[in-house]
Amino acid sequence: MSTVITNIGELVTNDPAVGDGLGIVRDAALVMDGDTIAWTGPASEAPAADESFDAAGRAVLPGFVDSHAHLVFAGERAEEFAARMSGQKYAAGGIRTTVERTRAASDDDLRANLRRLITEMARQGTTTVECKSGYGLTVDQEERAVRIAAELADEVTYLGAHVVPTGWDAAAYAHLAATDMLAACAPHARWVDVFCEEGAFDADQTREILQAGVKVGLGPRLHANQLTQGPAVQLAVELDAASADHCTFLSESDIDALASSQTVATLLPGVEFSTRQPYPNARRLLEAGATVALATDCNPGSCYSSSMAFCIAVAVRDMRMTPAEAVWSATAGGARALRRTDVGHLGIGARADVHVLDAPSHIHLAYRPGVPQTAAVWKAGHRVR
Ligand SMILES: [Zn+2]
Repeated sequence: MSTVITNIGELVTNDPAVGDGLGIVRDAALVMDGDTIAWTGPASEAPAADESFDAAGRAVLPGFVDSHAHLVFAGERAEEFAARMSGQKYAAGGIRTTVERTRAASDDDLRANLRRLITEMARQGTTTVECKSGYGLTVDQEERAVRIAAELADEVTYLGAHVVPTGWDAAAYAHLAATDMLAACAPHARWVDVFCEEGAFDADQTREILQAGVKVGLGPRLHANQLTQGPAVQLAVELDAASADHCTFLSESDIDALASSQTVATLLPGVEFSTRQPYPNARRLLEAGATVALATDCNPGSCYSSSMAFCIAVAVRDMRMTPAEAVWSATAGGARALRRTDVGHLGIGARADVHVLDAPSHIHLAYRPGVPQTAAVWKAGHRVR
């Protein structure tokens, strides 16, 4: 089955073969054959296909790649958010509230909540979702979380070391996370992640867990420098982590380390928005030559938004990224953060993840914040909206 999308006003390919930055083609067409992109080019040269979709002059983008989300959980924390907006400071401990609710939930409840959120994301143009565990914090509960995540999410991350559970010593718990818990979770996951932060896990504990994960075939990634200018970014680079996420408090040497590495700086502006923290210095990272991704960090505590468009708008307005930089970071940047070459772009052979905007250009994602602008979405060639 092939589908041609005709009459595209602005086609964002992110294909360096087409052009710098977003690789934009105007007055374009695109052909999907099965689950892959078979052809892109001028509308006047479009080949025939089994089905046709008229984009009516609107913009077409690669589906968003949300490379950081925590979606296996139960309950919500609206009251905590309201309290924070009334002046309380965000602290990592709020995670424990969600841990209690998640442990008490059935598999079906967790599965239903995960499906609801992934569907909510797809309706907004997100076609690749990374999903972490981290609200179970026992061997059985973490295994359950990654197993359920693997049923529905594109990318699964074992985050047993999300917070130190009540009653545990951090080093003892880190050792469990690097041994029995890892062994139970690794078969369902591609990635291993640690919240390396004051009040969570220190550099030695983080290194123990990530190196153990690498030994069993998982790729490392890190919650790094969210609350303090700690050692996590340097550790991420040292271990060739795919991504250092948050990067809110960076030293000059952290920025240099990221810029001279393959480790992507994944910025999560919804978190700073929802916790009233300062934003990371995206301009400094970009000017230094670091690869920057944008992701939601969708979770019930520090940012309960699944909207990549919202992240783009905040990144442009408050982090001074250009609309083109922000759109690239939310698509191709996310793919780099997951070390994926098949998503995040619309080059020939890419997975057919296609987002038709209800707008004439990608700029509208930042220009019209809060306005639903997703007209149609295909994931691997299947229409999902
Ligand atoms: Zn996170």
